Amino acid sequence: MVDQGPDPAALEATVTACRELIERRFPDGDHQGAAAVLLGDGTILTGTSPDFVNPSTEVCHELEPYCAAYRLDQRIVASVCLHRDPDRGFVVLSPCGICRERLTRHGPDVLAAVAEPADPTVPRWLPLRDLLPHYWLTAFPGATETWRA
Ligand SMILES: [Zn+2]
Repeated sequence: MVDQGPDPAALEATVTACRELIERRFPDGDHQGAAAVLLGDGTILTGTSPDFVNPSTEVCHELEPYCAAYRLDQRIVASVCLHRDPDRGFVVLSPCGICRERLTRHGPDVLAAVAEPADPTVPRWLPLRDLLPHYWLTAFPGATETWRA
C-alpha cells in the first residue's frame, strides 16, 4: 500500500494548534510566533521561543516540539511555523536552514509548511526533499537509506 501522507484534516489541525498557541499565549495581538508538529501517532505538539534578554541566545520556535518528539520517541510527519503580523495575519514561515537540517532525521518525506506565494498566510505543504534538493548527506552512498527513500 502506498503511503498517502498525513490526512489533510490532521495537517489543518496542526496549523490551527499553532495559531491557537499564539492567540492563547500572546493575547495582546502583537508580533509573535510559534510552531507545531504532527507526530506519527497523530499527536500535535506546539512550541514557542522566549524573547531572551540576549538575542544571541534565541532559538527557533520549532526547537521545543522537535525536542519533545525526540523525548517521546515519535516521528515528525509535518511541521509548521507561524508568525502573527498584526497587519497581515498569521504568515507561514518555512523552516530555516538549521531546522531543515534538524528535520532530516525524520526523512525526506516529512512535510514542511511554506508560504503560498500569492498569500503568505496560506500554508503549502512540501516534502523536505523539495526544500533540500542537494542535501549534503546524499554524497555518502548508503549513509542514509532513509533519506533516499
Ligand atoms: Zn529554525
